[in-house]
Amino acid sequence: MIKVNKDYLKLPGSYLFSDIAKKVSSFAEANPDKKIIRLGIGDVTQPLCPAVIEAMHKAVDEMASADTFKGYAPDLGYSFLRDTIVEKVYKKLGADIKADEIFISDGAKSDSGNIQEIFDRDVKVAVCDPVYPVYVDTNVMAGRTGSYDAATGLWSDVIYMPCTADNGYSPELPSGGKDGFGPDNKVPDLIYLCFPNNPTGATITKSQLQQWVDYANRVNAVIIYDAAYEAYISEADVPHSIYECEGARECAIEIRSFSKNAGFTGTRLGFTVIPKDIKDVDGNMLHSLWARRHGTKFNGAPYIIQKAGEAVYSDEGQKQTGEQIAYYMKNARYILEGLKSAGYTVSGGVNAPYIWLKTPDNMSSWDFFDFLLKEANVVGTPGSGFGPSGEGHFRLTAFGSYENTVEAIDRIKKL
Ligand SMILES: *Cc1c(COP(=O)(O)O)cnc(C)c1O
Repeated sequence: MIKVNKDYLKLPGSYLFSDIAKKVSSFAEANPDKKIIRLGIGDVTQPLCPAVIEAMHKAVDEMASADTFKGYAPDLGYSFLRDTIVEKVYKKLGADIKADEIFISDGAKSDSGNIQEIFDRDVKVAVCDPVYPVYVDTNVMAGRTGSYDAATGLWSDVIYMPCTADNGYSPELPSGGKDGFGPDNKVPDLIYLCFPNNPTGATITKSQLQQWVDYANRVNAVIIYDAAYEAYISEADVPHSIYECEGARECAIEIRSFSKNAGFTGTRLGFTVIPKDIKDVDGNMLHSLWARRHGTKFNGAPYIIQKAGEAVYSDEGQKQTGEQIAYYMKNARYILEGLKSAGYTVSGGVNAPYIWLKTPDNMSSWDFFDFLLKEANVVGTPGSGFGPSGEGHFRLTAFGSYENTVEAIDRIKKL
């Protein structure tokens, strides 16, 4: 008799983006003359750059000839790409990462969702609040999170690290409790960090990140470091990789994506780094388990796409993707400065394409959504959709066109 995985049934419906879409379409229907501007999008809008397109075309042609045709890609990625990442990413940062510690994948969403499979079902998970929903939901599916409290929006067995105005939207190390760790003496085993952050746009300094690495090594925890927005960093003391920190080879897994730095959201490419020095309490190497998992469940990212990814690191590719990021960050600056001048309390937008604002007059996130849609015809994302600590906040993104961004912010300023 067939039965479903009951852990899936525990997941509360994620209605955030469908609720937004419903509200926007009913407003548009009632107000056909209004031009609605969307600053809620979490997807890039600029096309793939010429260097990437050229590499893809070339790779397509290789597929057309028996001499150069490629079948199954190596499970863990082509060495041309893994070697390039070592040279162009990690050596440049002075980080000691070897090519065989890099696992090429189809993106950071799948990797950040799948990585929990290699850990014991009883490990205690810690996440920031607000947070990218994938980390929690995949642990729910794995039966690791206890029971859900609809009133608070929290899972009983997850350690939440609130990121609020009080701590500059940067999580604090678990502290307090009888033996010095965690609010209820809960010591996390698996800690998810994402910097620069989605949704808050906040970052962490190198010395702050070093404290997390030291903490993880002290309690024998592992940090999953989602660096999807690394390319947006503009400030000098913000680390581009967790491997800039001493001791990270013993405790940190880093996840990277080609989506936000090079526009691969529809093209799909990412990678995960697992140093061979990370071992569990019994001395088992995490690297071996992930290699086994990858080899069993994944048949490699397509050759054409890995060639396109290699081109991102060429001089031309770096220049061209850098221009795209500069375009988005010009939008971010306009949003940030415009909202500040209009009296809003805003953060983010300096090392990330996200601007996080406090709703005025203690409005709820959804009330502010309705207000902005009705009065300025601008769409954003309610902060409460990313977790209870996001309540009273609102996310705007810099992924729109410059013209629309300017028009939207100028409308908000006039309110
Ligand atoms: C967009 C995003 C990713 C990227 O996911 P891909 O699957 O590589 O497109 C990963 N993490 C966060 C926090 C993101 O916002």
